[in-house]
Amino acid sequence: MLFLLKMAKLGFRLSLKGLNETMPTVQREWYDNYMMPNYAPAAMIPVRGSGSRMWDQEGREYIDFGGGIAVNVLGHAHPDLVAALTDQAERLWHTSNVLATEPSLKLARRLVELTFADRAFFSNSGAEANEAALKLARRYAFDHYGKEKDRILAFDNAFHGRTLFTVTAGGQASYREGFGPLPGAIEHLPFNDIEALDGAFDEDVCAVIVEPVQGEGGVIAADKEFLETIRRLCDKHNSLMILDEVQTGVGRVGTLYAYQAFDIVPDILTTAKGLGGGFPVAATLSSAEVADSLKIGTHGSTWGGNPMGCAVANAVLDIVSSDAVLEGVCERRQQFEKALRTLGDKYGLFGEIRGMGLLIGCLLNAPWQEKARGLMQAAQDEGVFILVAGTNVLRMAPSLIIPQEDITEGIDRLERAIARFCEAGKV
Ligand SMILES: *Cc1c(COP(=O)(O)O)cnc(C)c1O
Repeated sequence: MLFLLKMAKLGFRLSLKGLNETMPTVQREWYDNYMMPNYAPAAMIPVRGSGSRMWDQEGREYIDFGGGIAVNVLGHAHPDLVAALTDQAERLWHTSNVLATEPSLKLARRLVELTFADRAFFSNSGAEANEAALKLARRYAFDHYGKEKDRILAFDNAFHGRTLFTVTAGGQASYREGFGPLPGAIEHLPFNDIEALDGAFDEDVCAVIVEPVQGEGGVIAADKEFLETIRRLCDKHNSLMILDEVQTGVGRVGTLYAYQAFDIVPDILTTAKGLGGGFPVAATLSSAEVADSLKIGTHGSTWGGNPMGCAVANAVLDIVSSDAVLEGVCERRQQFEKALRTLGDKYGLFGEIRGMGLLIGCLLNAPWQEKARGLMQAAQDEGVFILVAGTNVLRMAPSLIIPQEDITEGIDRLERAIARFCEAGKV
């Protein structure tokens, strides 16, 4: 029966295709027909990208201020990354972790040289990097202090990924709803609230997990004193400080990692999004002492540290770790801020511009709140691709090397979108 239905559907599609030869072969409605409905992708389908520009199936061009959600740190199809990937593709794709490979060894050494860390564990996504960090923290506490020391402190509106452990650590109750029973001993405190933190701490705290800038939660930077207090309380109670730098890492805020801008050193750091510049690769970094708790057989990943991802990540770090690129992030931040401030004032749309480096959030003023997605759509219609963070914040996380003229052109398009949006809103 199912087979017959499938045949009938196929026949229908074939005849449809016969009717209209010019229709693109792949269509957006396939999303609704064949994919699980957990996303709401745009109507257009991008097929090509170069630098900070993208083109859809119809050949329409977009300026990309989204950067694949803070992933494409060097834009689309950067020639050095294409070369690193294709070169590796011709050599060796996959071995599993039964064998070490040159790209992963090089990447581990590189990350150790560039950061506070002594050891790296590789995986494929931010959630996996955080999952490893949380498991490592629990295991470290268990090894050194016993199983009573299991409390994990996390923060309201935090985002750490979608596995059951990481989504429970995240601070959005709606993301956990209906998925219970959830892992235990995870508590949420208000972000940037030193008093609450102080009150919640005791000897049973195994770890604190925190983003230096909450990304998904609305582009809100941690206060320096807040992170310093976490560090101090962790030291006092033998707890581990886990910094989730999945979004803030790899040059995004103008230093290679955000902890360097805040001048505090975590025990464990996770990095993903920007690390592969668009290719999936992630890492959990720690001191040698903490890493010792991840003994043979305690954790693992089939693809973690695969040669393709690590080869690209090495090429990404070659470029992003340079002073020129990191200083460029700060210059571009200023250009964005100045232009966005002018726009925000002119249309009364947003006042506060927040975040750090090229992780930019614009908090919509009261009359426009809840309308972030509408604005994102209007921007897309004018040929500039932006992101949102929640319903009240426009978010931008472009390539770290976006050309100045693309910023100017993208802001012009955004202004046209805002003007139209405001006009429509007044009717
Ligand atoms: C995106 C993100 C994650 C999850 O990363 P995935 O690769 O989607 O699993 C975790 N933490 C932060 C801060 C993020 O921004």
